[in-house]
Amino acid sequence: MKVLVVDDSSTMRRIIINTLKAAGYSDVDEAGDGQEALGKVDAAELVLTDWNMPVMDGLTFVKEARGKGFDKPIIMVTTEGAKNEVLEALKNGVNDYIVKPFTKPVMVEKINKVLGL
Ligand SMILES: [Mg+2]
Repeated sequence: MKVLVVDDSSTMRRIIINTLKAAGYSDVDEAGDGQEALGKVDAAELVLTDWNMPVMDGLTFVKEARGKGFDKPIIMVTTEGAKNEVLEALKNGVNDYIVKPFTKPVMVEKINKVLGL
């Protein structure tokens, strides 16, 4: 299953990808902003995206991806833990969210949940 990891921080991408690999998800692609991610999203079966990014932020990316018919699960990985932001993300097509800093069990639990496992 191909997973797309979107974050402007290469360090954070590495942390997320290492967590995914430890959980058995080894087919991972990555993007540094929402615009780059839009060009890769069609091949993905699961997306983990940051919110705050240059060029195109995560919320805009989610809206654009949903707008062009992408219907696979999207998890927002963000420092924006405030209720209003979370509700806005969910309203715009995010399936679930993870607040940074996160633990591996939390990330695995959210992935299993959105995949219906
Ligand atoms: Mg960021």
